[in-house]
Amino acid sequence: MMAAVRNWGILVGGEWHDGPDRIEVRNAFDNERVGTVVRGTEEMVFAAISAAETASLQAFPAHERYDVLMDVAALIDAAADEYADTIAREGSKTISEARHEPPRAATIFRLAADESRRIAGETLPFDIRPGSENRKGYYTRRPVGVVAAIMPFNDPMAVTAHKIGPAIAAGNSVVVKPDSSTPLSILRMAEDFMTAGLPPGRLNVVTGHGSEIGDAIVRDPRVRLVAFTGGVATGRQITKTAGIKKLLLELGANSPVIVMPDADLENACSAIIAGAFAQAGQNCLGVQRIFIHKEIYTSFSNMLVEATGRLKAGHSMDESVDVCQMIRLRDAERVDAWVNEAVAEGASILTGGSREGAVYEPTLLENVPSGAKLECDEIYGPVSSLFEFEDLFDAVDRANAVDFGLHAAIFTESLRDAFYAVENLNVGAVIVNDSTDYRLDSMPFGGFRSSGVGREGIRFAVEAMTETRVACFNL
Ligand code: NAP
Repeated sequence: MMAAVRNWGILVGGEWHDGPDRIEVRNAFDNERVGTVVRGTEEMVFAAISAAETASLQAFPAHERYDVLMDVAALIDAAADEYADTIAREGSKTISEARHEPPRAATIFRLAADESRRIAGETLPFDIRPGSENRKGYYTRRPVGVVAAIMPFNDPMAVTAHKIGPAIAAGNSVVVKPDSSTPLSILRMAEDFMTAGLPPGRLNVVTGHGSEIGDAIVRDPRVRLVAFTGGVATGRQITKTAGIKKLLLELGANSPVIVMPDADLENACSAIIAGAFAQAGQNCLGVQRIFIHKEIYTSFSNMLVEATGRLKAGHSMDESVDVCQMIRLRDAERVDAWVNEAVAEGASILTGGSREGAVYEPTLLENVPSGAKLECDEIYGPVSSLFEFEDLFDAVDRANAVDFGLHAAIFTESLRDAFYAVENLNVGAVIVNDSTDYRLDSMPFGGFRSSGVGREGIRFAVEAMTETRVACFNL
């Protein structure tokens, strides 16, 4: 079902409000106008936080939170085609990739509903300290109050669900700021929350440019936790502005995979290609560096080149397209510039390497010189680099030699090698015999170093979005 072009308001205190200025949301391939949203102001942010704070003081028992989250999941399932259409038009996912998001978001909300029933504490053994024998007590978990959720463009429904779901499950109120490129599917989810009977003010959505309203959200002392997913530069700015409050930061990555000579190479090839080029490479879990053992370097790189050459690039709404336009023309231009820079420094393009508008061809390179941006920074586009290695120790050292640490992967049939990788790769998750692009929505998710602070994954986010309170009775 094709989604209607709508002019959305902001959602504050359970009501939709218009604003004097608007942002147009357009498809980066053909400039199609997909909708418009309010260009939010600092005053609107203030009002949204006030509404959230007021709502957070009202009773909202676990059984009501459970019901709302389950009802939203059902509403999303019922409108899955409309959501997928919106995501593929506003964002940077092919229509077949976009179809995975609504069911995933619904699952995340169901996991959050489950978690809302498990928020508990435990009794404390005060008698471990001499003199405390007559004390009895326990701790419970309390909502932090107001959570601000600042979103990236790449998985607008799923990443938002990972913040709203646990925040509501834990009894908080939320102010969401969508990415300016992909606000429409999030506003549609907010509409479903209203239909599901979420109390007014528990979910507020303020659209607008991060450069104009970001600081007002992050700085406000009534916001007790900022949950942010996005780039490292913005993450750094948030840490400077936030003051004393909790931060959950899911930032960038430069994910490595290691391919050992004993691996199932057919499986490794298809997994790596999918992991490198899904969502036009704009995926924090995307494969950026491919380390291949010297014994299989030539044969395996040929397999990767052949498989990459079979991918079709084009418009996100074309059912036959594997790799669609990037989110903005300037992002494709940046990818082009980084590849050209590496080539000027001695890298060779094995396949791809050209750009048409916002579409960048799936690209593989080798001989990328040490210190090139393609090796050290996050490309966040459909480009991966191949590196030959001598032994696993060398591969793990080189895999670790970046300032990121979200996911890493190894393909091997050797338990010993797999364990060595798990023990020594400095990342939030090591995936054995699949690409780095694997995430179970209930697993702890987050990275080391510049990849972020804290962990998502419903139970872990609920923990972050609550504070403990101890009760101690001196009897
Ligand atoms: P971005 O440029 O950092 O933008 C993310 C969000 O931050 C947008 O909503 C943006 O608003 C807002 N923003 C901008 N300036 C701000 C400020 N001063 N204060 C508060 N908010 C501000 O990132 P992006 O280009 O959308 O996303 C790409 C990055 O996200 C990549 O690095 C990727 O790895 C990372 N990512 C990480 C994960 C993970 O889980 N680790 C998942 C997905 C993506 P505007 O849209 O209005 O600019």
